[in-house]
Amino acid sequence: MRTPAGTECDFYYEDLHRGAERRECRADRAPGSLAWLPADCAICPVPEILHRAGGPHISVRITIRSLPLGIRRTVRADCWCERHVAPIADPLRGCEECRVESEEILRSAFEGGEPPDN
Ligand SMILES: [Zn+2]
Repeated sequence: MRTPAGTECDFYYEDLHRGAERRECRADRAPGSLAWLPADCAICPVPEILHRAGGPHISVRITIRSLPLGIRRTVRADCWCERHVAPIADPLRGCEECRVESEEILRSAFEGGEPPDN
């Protein structure tokens, strides 16, 4: 769904029909995170992570904090791979092990596979 910040995010949900004004972030929040506000979408890394590294195995948990003085908030995303049960160090690149696997699949397809139909 399209977030208030104009990005596409799997975790954002809204229902603005018939006078209802319901906006939700359905991403898991870490213990101690602040409650989500619609404005947090503008500073949240999750839409870009999903766009660049999204896949069936990635899990995301966000931590919303307010910096000292309370004038700015931050959203941190911790990601891990459910397939490899491992944290993902660089969420924008996705799971290293998944990438190695998919490169191997590609390579074996090129080297020993059927020639592509054309
Ligand atoms: Zn993985």
